[in-house]
Amino acid sequence: MDRTLAADLARLPDILDAARRAAADALATLDARPVVPPPPPPPPPPAKGTAPATPLPEHGAGAAAALDAFQRRWAPRLSASAGPRYLGFVTGGATPAALAGDWLTAAHDQNSNSAPDGAGQDLERETVDWLRDLFGLSAAHTGTFVSGATMSNTTGLAIAREWLGERAGISPAEDGAAALGPVRVLSGAPHSSIAKALSVLGLGRRSLVQVPTLPGREAVDPAALDRALADSRGGPPAVVVANAGTVNTVDFDDLHAIAALKERHDFWLHTDAAFGAFAALSPDHAHLTAGLDASDSLCVDLHKWLNVPYDSAVQFTRRQDLQARVFQNSAAYLGPLGDHPDLVHLTPENSHRLRALAAWFTLRAYGRRGHREIVERDIACARALGEDLARGPEFTVLAPVRLNVVCFTLAENPTPARLTALREAAAAEVFVTPTVYAGTPALRAAFSNWRTTQADVRRAAQALRTAARELE
Ligand SMILES: *Cc1c(COP(=O)(O)O)cnc(C)c1O
Repeated sequence: MDRTLAADLARLPDILDAARRAAADALATLDARPVVPPPPPPPPPPAKGTAPATPLPEHGAGAAAALDAFQRRWAPRLSASAGPRYLGFVTGGATPAALAGDWLTAAHDQNSNSAPDGAGQDLERETVDWLRDLFGLSAAHTGTFVSGATMSNTTGLAIAREWLGERAGISPAEDGAAALGPVRVLSGAPHSSIAKALSVLGLGRRSLVQVPTLPGREAVDPAALDRALADSRGGPPAVVVANAGTVNTVDFDDLHAIAALKERHDFWLHTDAAFGAFAALSPDHAHLTAGLDASDSLCVDLHKWLNVPYDSAVQFTRRQDLQARVFQNSAAYLGPLGDHPDLVHLTPENSHRLRALAAWFTLRAYGRRGHREIVERDIACARALGEDLARGPEFTVLAPVRLNVVCFTLAENPTPARLTALREAAAAEVFVTPTVYAGTPALRAAFSNWRTTQADVRRAAQALRTAARELE
């Protein structure tokens, strides 16, 4: 054994202890550190033929030295995205239990994908059962863990692709996507990851047909969807991507109305409920997710509002048989498909970490009530920020705060350049991300972190207002 490696083995508990101290310090200083530190000045361009500034070490100096180098060079540059005022994208943090579960995931280093060493996938199945219960899904849905909502959407649409093949009497998994001919994927305000998934799956970004939304809304117009489905009558069946929580205004398609269209049209219903599914945890907002169970496939992100560390999402479907047709991985050392296929046959990955453990920990630790409290507090924070920004002269709030996102812009001259300057000026205190809403350059503040409180809302509002007043 390499001498440095052997020395690290001998002092492994000390190394873990030092890493624990570094982690605890990073979390204890979340409130004091800049939410997003300013980028360092760009390094001078390297002279031709010189080695990179930080060459690969020939001989390592051990884990303690690596930790030291990380703490000096990289940790100070990392954002406080685990903290309460990182409101960009839809981010979420990691609850104490989820973090502990994630550490143990790495310590146990399981490849939880097949029956010959099956405890990991049993744990994953138990966690999926809990999640199904959390979101009010019926036992008709099975679920699998994947790395994020993009991969969940991709997996769901891969199952949809196989369903289109079933209707046409072919198997795209066997014959290739080209055997399907042109495909129509209908959606009102799809997330960008849907187009990416269609590209990956060989269906093509151009197969996405945008269906009109309701006036002033991001929710699809069910009558327009009905017409679009009628237009494709006689042709191959379509795929409908319903949106349960859009990123700009957290609008929800009417899932019952969409499902009801199945009486007249043949289509696969995939729902992107990446973070919107969590509305089901709040009795005041659960109606938004009514009808979720009717989806043939369904995407829910866990590294957002469940507050588990990156990267984690779940993919639910009513047609596990088609899922296994797409993702089966026949090999002599793996079990047969059977009625309960091993996870290796159900997702794009073969090997995967025991990703479910962090979710298992946080659900076991805080239960439905604990997670409901997080969701309801974040919703209340979003509403409070929306009201605060709407009161002053600096900002215009562009849409009602339906759930956990505030979509707003400068009241005067909201150019992309001014919005960038505003974001950067406020970034030490609050991080928000740019968007365009109904043609207007805008900003979004998304609440999904378990740490965020009303005090953070006041601090964020103050920072945004100060930055707006100081703009040229
Ligand atoms: C975040 C998000 C995605 C993509 O999620 P990743 O976890 O980044 O892959 C897809 N759809 C919606 C609605 C989202 O909010």
